[in-house]
Amino acid sequence: MKAIASHNGLAAAQRAYELASTGSSPLDACVAGVALIEDDPEELTVGYGGLPNEDGVVELDAAVMDGRLHRGAGVAALQKVRHPAQVAQRLMEQTTRALLVGEGALRFAQANGFPEENLLTDKARRMWLYWKRTRSNFDDWRRPAADETDLDVEHWFATRFYGQAAREGRHGTVHCAVQGPTGDLACTTSTSGHAFKLAGRVGDSPILGAGLYVDNEAGTCGSIGHGEANLTHLSSFAAVELMRTGLSPVDAGLELLRRIAAKTPEHERDENGRPKFNLQLFLLHHSGAHAGVAMWGPKQIAVCDEQGGRLEDCTPLYER
Ligand code: ASP
Repeated sequence: MKAIASHNGLAAAQRAYELASTGSSPLDACVAGVALIEDDPEELTVGYGGLPNEDGVVELDAAVMDGRLHRGAGVAALQKVRHPAQVAQRLMEQTTRALLVGEGALRFAQANGFPEENLLTDKARRMWLYWKRTRSNFDDWRRPAADETDLDVEHWFATRFYGQAAREGRHGTVHCAVQGPTGDLACTTSTSGHAFKLAGRVGDSPILGAGLYVDNEAGTCGSIGHGEANLTHLSSFAAVELMRTGLSPVDAGLELLRRIAAKTPEHERDENGRPKFNLQLFLLHHSGAHAGVAMWGPKQIAVCDEQGGRLEDCTPLYER
């Protein structure tokens, strides 16, 4: 038995492990684990408190996949509902469909009694406003004056958004995968997507095969980072298929990162020809072996098994 998650999902992995070891299905366990992160207002990339799109509206993407049934579903650009992974699970369980977007996803959530709320926290609103006021000198917005200093927000933009070529502050998502006591696998990925994205932009997280994939006889893979790279490589599907052919989780993950790096478009490469963006894959082999890999290290993966919960280093393709 084991649960793995993205670095921001240690609490999710621990909760999922605990639930799976006390009788919950692997899917129920990982969705309940991820709900802790979706609820956290300080997590700026997932659920309630996630950074909004360029219009200041929080739009969430999530998907689930159940290895025992080989079924899955996703919801995309969902507004007002803080637990998109639960909505995706309900879609998988109650309908014959696998993907709902926008208004239709919201109506489905409403029909199922999910509470609606404003997901934009005051902190996320201040960050969005700062972004609008600093991104260009050629629009109607004036830069914050010295007496308007918002230290937290300015520090975040200086170090994580404007300060790095990779703009990692735009990235973030939570992924969690579980192998239950009978060996069945399940996983979920949940995100508010790239900060300040185009309204209606859908990333990899709600797309089966891109942001997550499970095959009970091979393994699971889920990803966080630059979603468009996963969409064009179907990274999670491809990594699981590589494990099926006999590659270890770490070799399957690194092979995907190499493929992505080799085909990265020119405008997304740095001066040395390497991808400017980051991307992490979290893999769990059906044998129970796991690995986290990152385009750019150092990065971490959360793991929970009989030895307890912990963060381990991902294997990087490149190091900063
Ligand atoms: N993969 C997510 C997306 O592209 C965001 C992220 O993990 O950074 O929407």
